[in-house]
Amino acid sequence: MNHNFVYSGSPAHIIFGEGKSALAGEWVEKIGCKKALVLSTPQQQADAEALAERLGPLSAGVFPGAVMHTPVDVTEKAMEVVARTSADCVVSLGGGSTTGLGKAIAYRIDLPQIVIPTTYAGSEVTPILGQTEGGCKTTVRHPSILPEVVIYDPALTLGLPVGMSINSGLNAMAHAVEALYAQDRNPISTLMAVEGLRAFKTSLPKIAGSPRDMAVRADALYGAWLCGTVLGTVGMALHHKICHTLGGTFDTPHAETHAIMLPHTAGYNAAAVPELLAPIAEIFGGSVGGGIWDFAKEAGAPLALRDLGLSEADLDRAAEIATENPYWNPRPVDRRSIRDLLQDAWEGRRPAR
Ligand code: NAD
Repeated sequence: MNHNFVYSGSPAHIIFGEGKSALAGEWVEKIGCKKALVLSTPQQQADAEALAERLGPLSAGVFPGAVMHTPVDVTEKAMEVVARTSADCVVSLGGGSTTGLGKAIAYRIDLPQIVIPTTYAGSEVTPILGQTEGGCKTTVRHPSILPEVVIYDPALTLGLPVGMSINSGLNAMAHAVEALYAQDRNPISTLMAVEGLRAFKTSLPKIAGSPRDMAVRADALYGAWLCGTVLGTVGMALHHKICHTLGGTFDTPHAETHAIMLPHTAGYNAAAVPELLAPIAEIFGGSVGGGIWDFAKEAGAPLALRDLGLSEADLDRAAEIATENPYWNPRPVDRRSIRDLLQDAWEGRRPAR
C-alpha cells in the first residue's frame, strides 16, 4: 500500500439525526449570527416558511427563488434581499440548487451558511460552486464557498419522490466511485467512499418499497454525507467530465445523467485500476460496471441516455467535447473509446467489465 498522502479535514460542523433541523436557530447563534435568510426553491417554499417561523426573531425572512444551475441574476436578486433585511447568514433548505444559491452568496460576501439538505447530491460539504451566466456554466472552488454548518435530518427526506431519491443516490455514488481512483486520494477518503457506497447499497433498493422508513432514509442520507465529503476533498475524473459535458451542452438532467453514466465510466476505468475498484465488485457483486448496472436496474433507475432526449447524432459532439480538455483519468481517454462508451450508455446496454 502507498502511504504517501496529504489529508486535509473539512472544517465544517456536521449534525446528523432525526429531528435535528429543529436546532437550526441554536446553530445560527453558535456561529455568532443574529438574522438568517432562509433560502429554498419555489417548490419547497412552504417548508422554508415553516422553518423561518420556528427561527422566530432569528429569521430575516424567506427567499424562495432558488433554481437549477445557480443563475447569476437569481443570486443578485437574493443579494438585494440580504442587504434589505440585514441578514448576517443564510439557512439553505433543499437540494443542490438551493445549496448552490447559498454558496453563490457566500462566495460574494462571505456570509456564513447553514445547510439542511433534502436530497443526496452532496453539494453541502464541498467548497465548489457551479453558476451560470448567459447560458455559460463556470465552476469555482474557494474556502468561502464551503458551508459552515450542515444539519442532516432524515425526517426532511421522507417526501423526496422515489425516482428522485434513486437518481440522487446514484449521483452521490458517482462521487465515491471516482474518489476510489482519484490521484489525490488518501486513506480517509477511501474509507469514506467505501462506507458511502455500502450505505447506498443497503438503503436505495428499500426506498422504492418503504419511502417513509426513517431508518432507510437515515442510511441513504449518511451515504450522501460520505459521498459528498469525498467529492469536496479529492479530484474527480472521466465520469464527472462526461456528465458536465452532457448537462452543460445538451442540458440533460443532472442526477439522471450521473445515474445512467456511472456503470459505464466505472467499467471503463476498471480495466486500468481493478485493484482500486475491487471494493465495488465486492459490494455490488459481479463486475464493477455490471454490478452497478444491475443495482441501478433493480432500484428502478433510468439506464439509457436516449430516454433523456439525447439523439444518437449528439454522441459524436459529446465525445469530442468530453475529450477536448480531459480531466486526469486513470485510464487514457481517446475519442473513439469515449464514443463507444457513450453508445453503450445511449442504448442502455449492460457493461461487460
Ligand atoms: P435540486 O436541488 O434541483 O432539487 C430538485 C427538485 O426537488 C427541486 O424542485 C427541489 O425543491 C425538490 N426537492 C428537493 N428535496 C426535496 C424533498 N425532500 N422533497 C420534495 N422535493 C424536494 O436537485 P439536486 O439533484 O439536489 O441538485 C442538483 C444541482 O446541484 C445541480 O445544479 C448540480 O450541479 C448541483 N450540485 C453541485 C455540487 C457541488 O459540489 N457544487 C454537488 C452536487 C450537485
